[in-house]
Amino acid sequence: MIDWKDKKEFWIAGTRIADPVAGRIRTGSVLIRRGLIEEISWQKKVKTDLPILEADGLLLAPGFIDIHTHLREPGFEDKETIETGTAAAAAGGYTAVVCMANTDPVIDDPSVVKYILKRAAESGSCRVYVNAAVTKGLEGVDICEYHHLKKAGAVSLSDDGKYISNSQVMRSALEYAGMLGLVVISHCEDPYLTNESQMNESYWSTKLGLKGAHAASEEIAVARDIRLAELTGSMLHIAHVSTAGAIELIRQAKKRGVVVTAEASPHHLTLDESMLENYDRNLKVNPPLRGKTDIAALRAALRDGTIDCIATDHAPHSAIDKQVEFDLAPPGMIGLETCFALLNTELVARGELELIDLVRLMTSGPADVLQLPGGKMEVGEPADLVLVDLDERWTPARENLRSKSSNSPLLGRELTGRVQGVFLEGKWLSAII
Ligand SMILES: [Zn+2]
Repeated sequence: MIDWKDKKEFWIAGTRIADPVAGRIRTGSVLIRRGLIEEISWQKKVKTDLPILEADGLLLAPGFIDIHTHLREPGFEDKETIETGTAAAAAGGYTAVVCMANTDPVIDDPSVVKYILKRAAESGSCRVYVNAAVTKGLEGVDICEYHHLKKAGAVSLSDDGKYISNSQVMRSALEYAGMLGLVVISHCEDPYLTNESQMNESYWSTKLGLKGAHAASEEIAVARDIRLAELTGSMLHIAHVSTAGAIELIRQAKKRGVVVTAEASPHHLTLDESMLENYDRNLKVNPPLRGKTDIAALRAALRDGTIDCIATDHAPHSAIDKQVEFDLAPPGMIGLETCFALLNTELVARGELELIDLVRLMTSGPADVLQLPGGKMEVGEPADLVLVDLDERWTPARENLRSKSSNSPLLGRELTGRVQGVFLEGKWLSAII
């Protein structure tokens, strides 16, 4: 593809323009000028002296936004860095990510927030927003100073990876965060029920001889947090929902007017527990992959609005970390570079989800959850855009991924739909190595 890096003014012509807010995809052309969307025309061809990027048949959407990314820096640079993680994000079509707090040191102090924002400005390939911890050291005991964290630039609060078992701590966190207009993101697993579990508790955990975590673990945690959100009136977001029962709790809470939102991960939407049959450590995640009924419930929840957005839970681990006995392997898989293609292949191509809904769940959906800028196809918005060839077949492999880690069960599996690259404030970044 032509190098568009240095072009300040140009048209992207003849492309299928996805507008997630209006809920439509229509062929037209977009003028980018000085990093902004200057004009949207419904003409396939444009008469102009400016350079034209012919994008016939490609999909042009607002850049994807991932509100659940583990960038691992500072502290775990052997797994991922801000540089490699944001390069992976851009290659997956993302122009913004929110990074989680379980770094070393933990993001529980304004100095760490500032450090990450500085590193992102120096070495990032996309925008980086910082999620700070709810409690100091993620220990679930003392709440952090949210006011100072927000002033330093934090956009949300989460102890992701850990559930806040002490209900009074969670109540105080919601009250304090609510006063500042910050969303609390909850990782919902009752730690006493999930204790040392390796997968979902079911026929399969018995068959494979692995300790299971029952769906009730997630559902009890979701129920408590919804009740506390109701009590405090504060904003609660449920990370990586994975069970049919949790979906139903969220659906009913929304009906009652509780301010709760939810995300689903690409792996919980497409991979099931039976795939663990060969003990692939890359399929070990928290919460665990569930059964087919849960997957069907998650998909229905995408369609009826119970789930507000898709978030990757991109969790890089080095090969050494994963090359151990199953029960010692850390949970998590990478997901930024394959999310769109996986869901396009498994849901859109099979008629289970409209393409525009997938775009919405990856753009304006996540932006709305955390009240972030972006995610819109509108004149005057920054030209943070993604260009996708919906028909291109490709196979993720270690060599064509930019993440520092390759803990993905999708390597070697053909997917349909390939991100060609992103424009970040109008600057082209190719996705293809
Ligand atoms: Zn989590």
